[in-house]
Amino acid sequence: MSIIREYRPRHATPAVAIGNVKMGGGNPVVVQAMTDTDTADEVATAIQCAQLVSAGAEMVRITVNTPRAAQAVAGVRARLDDMGIDAPLIGDFHFNGHKLLPQYPACAAALAKYRINPGNVGRGDKHDAQFTILIEQALQHNKAVRIGVNWGSVDQELLATLMDENARSKQPQSAQVVLQQALVQSAVQSAQFAEQLGLAADKIVLSCKTSRIPDLLAVYRELAQTPYALHLGLTEAGMGLRAVAATASALGILLAEGIGDTIRASLTPPAGGDRAEEVQLCCALLQSMGLRAFAPQVTACPGCGRTTSDFFRRLAADIQTHISAKLPQWKEQHPGVENLTIAVMGCIVNGPGESRHADIGISLPGSGENPVAPVYIDGEKTTALKGEHIAEEFITLIEEYIARRF
Ligand code: SF4
Repeated sequence: MSIIREYRPRHATPAVAIGNVKMGGGNPVVVQAMTDTDTADEVATAIQCAQLVSAGAEMVRITVNTPRAAQAVAGVRARLDDMGIDAPLIGDFHFNGHKLLPQYPACAAALAKYRINPGNVGRGDKHDAQFTILIEQALQHNKAVRIGVNWGSVDQELLATLMDENARSKQPQSAQVVLQQALVQSAVQSAQFAEQLGLAADKIVLSCKTSRIPDLLAVYRELAQTPYALHLGLTEAGMGLRAVAATASALGILLAEGIGDTIRASLTPPAGGDRAEEVQLCCALLQSMGLRAFAPQVTACPGCGRTTSDFFRRLAADIQTHISAKLPQWKEQHPGVENLTIAVMGCIVNGPGESRHADIGISLPGSGENPVAPVYIDGEKTTALKGEHIAEEFITLIEEYIARRF
């Protein structure tokens, strides 16, 4: 019988300082998010950054696409500082970063990292000159750079060259494999060029995003052979459950292989939807994999024909609501509370067992069972609740447990 193995050891990378956040080098995997406001709207952008940080984002990327956006960046930073938010801002540059960064030094200084897409830095002989300006800006302002390749904007000249070479080869690869090679080569060659220009390896982060999971896995397994810190993301994941499933499975596989130093979920929110869902997904993914802890976890069974009512579902929802409401206060007063585990189970089949595995758990009575709900604390049955106020009494027991333990 084979023994289930732990995750693979983390890919060895240098620690990269992004403002006050360190990623890579064995540091915890960092959650990041991106705004969808017009960066030129300084107030709206600062508010959305604050919302993303409040949801758990530890770094926030904003697009810097126009002179007006570049002019607003320092103001966004100042507004966040005034709110007591020190999460670093990352500038996303495409096409004109080589002009905006030198023209707006306050923008260059306010950002903690520049994201550069080698596929749109400039074509032909302009590419190297414009890429050089971007790296010189990073050197001048002592900033990190993410070389972020995306299959939607991969360097077309490099891709054409590789396709030609492949066509002449005796054993040609599929177009898909050549595209994967182009993504990796674009990122790695750009990183090596940046190092030649004087940027240290611990100032460089790489990403190569695709929206197809097999491509993403292949590309990141190649990138994990390089010495650079890696930003993971499935690009254009889409909307709804499919996007959540695709993102979690792609990133989960790579994280289990020890690959990835920061993650972002590229979810498309529904109209009027909450942008912070992409952050909640990243936090939930890392916590469910046991890689980070952000908030107490509630384990609840799905319910089945043995449950007499949906009471246990409502109890699980009430507890989740209570946790969300109290978490900011708990975090201040009870350090480590994010590691708490709670079980809410529907009947005697798995209820006592699962409740014993949690720090505190309740096993509600199923159909035909004695109408009492045993409560387990640290693996021991301590009491049994019954009557109208099981929810309130269990929440009180949770509060008492937190006060005692954290
Ligand atoms: S614990 Fe009981 S109620 Fe919950 S899913 Fe299992 S058998 Fe059904």
